[in-house]
Amino acid sequence: MTLTLDPDDWRALGATGHRMLDETLQHLAGLRERPAWQRPPAAVREALDEPLPLEGQGLEAAYESFVKNVLPYPNGNLHPRFWGWVQGTGNVEGMLADMLASGLNPMLAGFDQAPALVEQQVLRWLAEMLGFSGADGVLCSSGTMANLLGLAVARHGKAGFDVREEGLAGRPPMTVYCSAETHGWARKAVEVLGLGNAALRRVAVDERYRMQTAALERAVRADREAGLNPICVIATAGTVNTGAIDPLEEVAAVCAGEGLWMHVDGAYGALAYIAGSLRPLLTGMERADSLAFDLHKWIGVPFDCACLLTRHPETQRAAFELAPAYMTATDRGVLAGGVPFADMGIDLTRPFRALKVWMSLKAHGVRKYAALIEQNVRQARVFAAAVEAEPLLELLAPVEMNVVCFRYRPPGLDEAALNALNQELLLRLQESGAAVLSSTLLDGRLALRLAHVNHRSRDEDFDVLLQAVLRLGAEVR
Ligand SMILES: *Cc1c(COP(=O)(O)O)cnc(C)c1O
Repeated sequence: MTLTLDPDDWRALGATGHRMLDETLQHLAGLRERPAWQRPPAAVREALDEPLPLEGQGLEAAYESFVKNVLPYPNGNLHPRFWGWVQGTGNVEGMLADMLASGLNPMLAGFDQAPALVEQQVLRWLAEMLGFSGADGVLCSSGTMANLLGLAVARHGKAGFDVREEGLAGRPPMTVYCSAETHGWARKAVEVLGLGNAALRRVAVDERYRMQTAALERAVRADREAGLNPICVIATAGTVNTGAIDPLEEVAAVCAGEGLWMHVDGAYGALAYIAGSLRPLLTGMERADSLAFDLHKWIGVPFDCACLLTRHPETQRAAFELAPAYMTATDRGVLAGGVPFADMGIDLTRPFRALKVWMSLKAHGVRKYAALIEQNVRQARVFAAAVEAEPLLELLAPVEMNVVCFRYRPPGLDEAALNALNQELLLRLQESGAAVLSSTLLDGRLALRLAHVNHRSRDEDFDVLLQAVLRLGAEVR
């Protein structure tokens, strides 16, 4: 008999598949009844340390193990009271679209195929949603990757020589500017691009954790005078620590004056642009040369999906395009139109990520997403007001959008004791399964950090959090 991976009995396999779907939907419907997080116990760690299966056990057995050992123990990001980090909460339409995309499994380097038309349409929609009409770009795995691609395009556009052909040796070092509050992707990116960590200038922030543009200008001028080659400013729309938004208009003016590429990291924050009440916070974002953002955060599609948009598609293409003989565009047939998506980034084989975005936007509509983002920001502000009203709690940073940094602060403790108390409180909160927060350090003070992109949170969930924090604070103290 000839071997294949297809089943002998499609009906039997279908029954298992239907069971998987039904049970997954049941699981999602019951999330609120489960702990926000629980540590995988010893038995699970053992079960997931099996020898390599040389002989197959069948799909049923594999699924049984999944239900028992994997399903109950994820990191918790789907739970209504998960606000630990800016992680998306997923959506059912996106999940189903992922199944359809995997079932169809088209290869999305490009090609003359309907899935490519879906992806092009999604890119047009995203550009229109974020005030970048006429821009082009690429979908990719993560905010980290979208930002890295953006910086690679900036380097190609602003190096002043053919960096793809010649590399960096023997040239004046290029420099890149960002605020001291910029996400860790920027360091990885300058390292991977061969510029080195020393090329990343961390500009000081003001009391609202926003880049000081006067300091930015001084740094650029000083570097120029020292014979370096400044190429790009990274502004952040929604920082990871506090949700701060750099003064985008001012950054745009500096970039225009100094001939620098303006890249915006809008991983989650850029999406606030679709909400009318929040759009003014992002004034100036539309002046960026490139914008990176996630669809798996504030649009909530299942991991992973992010996007880089640029106002200079020709530069983006020139930064990555190849024309190997086996993939040269033809004017008819499957390869008509070439591989435009592969030419706009690094990946060649690409999944049909666009489908979950397409289906989510079609199913819910942009207006509903805008209302959800406004709901998240309102809930964060209401929670921050409750923190301010509670004598035992202290707000540690202004609440710009959806991030609240605070701590439990009984009288009579010094900073070191407060940090230790809040760290223990945080871990007990996570281990209780009541809610998940994370922490960060702000001027040496350990803050409990609530980062809210959760479409499942109800107003009363924040009361549960407040009570849990007060109870655990009293317990640890
Ligand atoms: C999440 C985040 C990133 C990184 O995005 P990933 O999708 O996690 O790689 C970058 N910048 C900011 C501001 C973020 O919040």
